Amino acid sequence: MMFVDKANISVRAGDGGNGVVSFHREKYVAAGGPDGGDGGRGGNIVLQTDRHMSTLMDFRYKRKYAAPSGADGSGALKTGKSGADLVIKVPNGTVVRDRETNAVIKDMTGDEPFVLAKGGNGGWGNKHFATPTRQAPRFAKSGLSGEARDIVLELKLLADVGLVGFPNVGKSTLLSVVSKAHPKIADYHFTTLYPNLGLVYIDEGESFVMADIPGIIEGASDGAGLGHDFLRHIDRCRLIIHVVDASGSEGRDPIEDFETINEELRRYNPELASRPQIVAANKCDIAPEGESLVAFREYIAEKGLPLYEISAAAHTNVNTLVRAANTRLRELPPIIEYATEYVPVITLPGSPEDTLITREDDLWFLEGKWLERLVRNTNFTDNESRGYFNRALENGGVFARLEEMGIAEGDTVSVYNLEFEWEK
Ligand code: GDP
Ligand code: MG
Repeated sequence: MMFVDKANISVRAGDGGNGVVSFHREKYVAAGGPDGGDGGRGGNIVLQTDRHMSTLMDFRYKRKYAAPSGADGSGALKTGKSGADLVIKVPNGTVVRDRETNAVIKDMTGDEPFVLAKGGNGGWGNKHFATPTRQAPRFAKSGLSGEARDIVLELKLLADVGLVGFPNVGKSTLLSVVSKAHPKIADYHFTTLYPNLGLVYIDEGESFVMADIPGIIEGASDGAGLGHDFLRHIDRCRLIIHVVDASGSEGRDPIEDFETINEELRRYNPELASRPQIVAANKCDIAPEGESLVAFREYIAEKGLPLYEISAAAHTNVNTLVRAANTRLRELPPIIEYATEYVPVITLPGSPEDTLITREDDLWFLEGKWLERLVRNTNFTDNESRGYFNRALENGGVFARLEEMGIAEGDTVSVYNLEFEWEK
């Protein structure tokens, strides 16, 4: 199985249904009033975390997601059926970014559903446009289009502790010994092709999540090895357990290894290199009590880091190590969550000149793609936002055109499902 931790997908919410023109008909009743219903709302695209999902694999095969549109309205004031929301499940800890700006739209951590793209509102039926002077409106409005979005999903695991170290130093062995995870263990490098998470049980009601991050090798932060893809998973860890092979069983020098790995972390993210670390000198069951080990002890002591000499395979000192990690975690801040930094981008396709103006007596309809986006980006409960909306119409020459066409004080300007009174 290939571990997929990044995916590009496109989503599109449903369009609103159209409003209809209809008149009440009944036997023996002449000239019934307008009774055209509104269009139904388009379905939203909703994200929801699923604790049983651990990869973004599903998104490899399916990249486009569309929610159903709302149905058109019908006579007898029947509103069209709303389009159902389309719920997309993602693993806990998936960070959602805007593909164009890379801004964080949402960190999907926890159980709250998130509306990623809103369905369009349904258009109004002719009943809405009836007034004492306009008793038989022969027009209705079409629904608004649903929001569309191109996004990047990135899985950033939620582990308290991340294990880092060269391949074959015993990370997977350690994880399997202290937790319920059963990662593959073997003698060759890159055994672990995807991160493993394990729950480390300390005492009743006390436990933490440990992640075994595979493949950190020299040059990983430049994308040379597998490591680069996986480094993102330790981004969130509160504590790092840095595992080294103290036995020199593969001709490795613990000090050199330790520095190389830390340099990789620094190159990927300087803040990551300064994350609290605990050092585990592993394979002490076969480590000769010689110069190399003595030098490593001194080196780590100079850095002021706690060092535990363990044997993952023989279970020596592993309990002391995880208890120390647990004690440390109690003092550390919780797992990092990414703040939403998405600001709706007001890029308006088309131009104000394309705005279509139609007139029904004292009622003026404005329509067009540019206008639709403008309405979508305006918060009409906010003064400043309303001001922006007005200026955009003014600067785009739409107001001038209305005046040229003879709009009068007190007339109504209908912009999608909004109505404004015209004043000089
Ligand atoms: P990883 O690549 O860091 O995940 O390393 P693994 O956990 O897959 O272990 C690599 C090899 O080292 C395996 O053959 C393990 O059995 C062996 N190993 C792991 N821990 C110890 C230990 O404490 N002592 C000894 N002698 N061998 C160990
Ligand atoms: Mg491994």
